[in-house]
Amino acid sequence: MSRFPKSLKLFIPAVLLILSALSCDNDTTEPPDYGDPPEISKTFCDAEGIEVYLAYIAETYPALTDLREIGRSVDGRTLYVIEISDNPGTDEEEPAVFIGGGIHGHEQVSAGTAMHLLEDLLEAYPDNPEAADIIDNYKLNIMPAINPDGLDDGNRYNSNGVDINRNFGFHWSESENYNGEEAFDQPESAALRDDIIEEGYSSGLILHTASFQSGIGIYGPWDSIPSDDEDFYTGNMDGASYAVIESTGEAYSETLTATAGYPYSMHFHYEAGADWYILYGSVNDWALGVTGSVLYSVELYGDQYFTTGDAVLLEEIWDRHKQSMLDFIRSNPEW
Ligand SMILES: [Zn+2]
Repeated sequence: MSRFPKSLKLFIPAVLLILSALSCDNDTTEPPDYGDPPEISKTFCDAEGIEVYLAYIAETYPALTDLREIGRSVDGRTLYVIEISDNPGTDEEEPAVFIGGGIHGHEQVSAGTAMHLLEDLLEAYPDNPEAADIIDNYKLNIMPAINPDGLDDGNRYNSNGVDINRNFGFHWSESENYNGEEAFDQPESAALRDDIIEEGYSSGLILHTASFQSGIGIYGPWDSIPSDDEDFYTGNMDGASYAVIESTGEAYSETLTATAGYPYSMHFHYEAGADWYILYGSVNDWALGVTGSVLYSVELYGDQYFTTGDAVLLEEIWDRHKQSMLDFIRSNPEW
């Protein structure tokens, strides 16, 4: 006789099935069936799922989206950026804003959050005034999977074992870890570099998740330069005023921490990246140092017990960051 009653015998496989559907650690060889429309909770940790999802969005909103391919990963996956705007793919005189996820492949919630932003704005257009303002008056470019190979196997690095956020060519350093043989020798970082130059982003967010609660926050430039270096932290650099860089980052943090109930909101804060820890070869430093684009790193969430496959947690994170992100996109700061 079985140790379990019959109902429990049915219940356990059902629970296991649901858990495996929510987990990022699936190693199925068959392409998953995401249904129509694809669900973010099933696709955010899977490069192929994100590709299916972006194709679906581009097909559903052809007048508001322009899906472009900016290169290929080490393993040959297409690198996608999707622009959403009222005249996508044209040369409108509007501020261009970049939101990137999945630069570190094990930080899969960052890809899911970028996809939520994309989906929510398109669904809310044109009735919601914030969505209408962003789509009508900005060129918003979203790249959920900067490092799709890493995303697919839950690996921080790309398939050459390089950290894309250490491979950019401003203060790139031989002494840094996982940095590549030289700056921009990885296809993912070279493709993103070319896209930033081509599009001339005014501002942007690179989404991450931290390992510890104390790491969550929004980090401004610079990553490689200590904040007591006045040459870089006061006055103007390529027209960018550091006071505005600070106040824009602080506004993101203040809106988020004012939202009641965000787990660990007491840890969320703004500071310069270098005040957390010094790192060399980041996309943010290159973007500001070479092109004048102001990019921030947002560590969306942090917990040493964090499981990236938790779709419920993804919904919570998106919900808590949504207002800060919409405000950031619309802030159009005069750097
Ligand atoms: Zn990261």
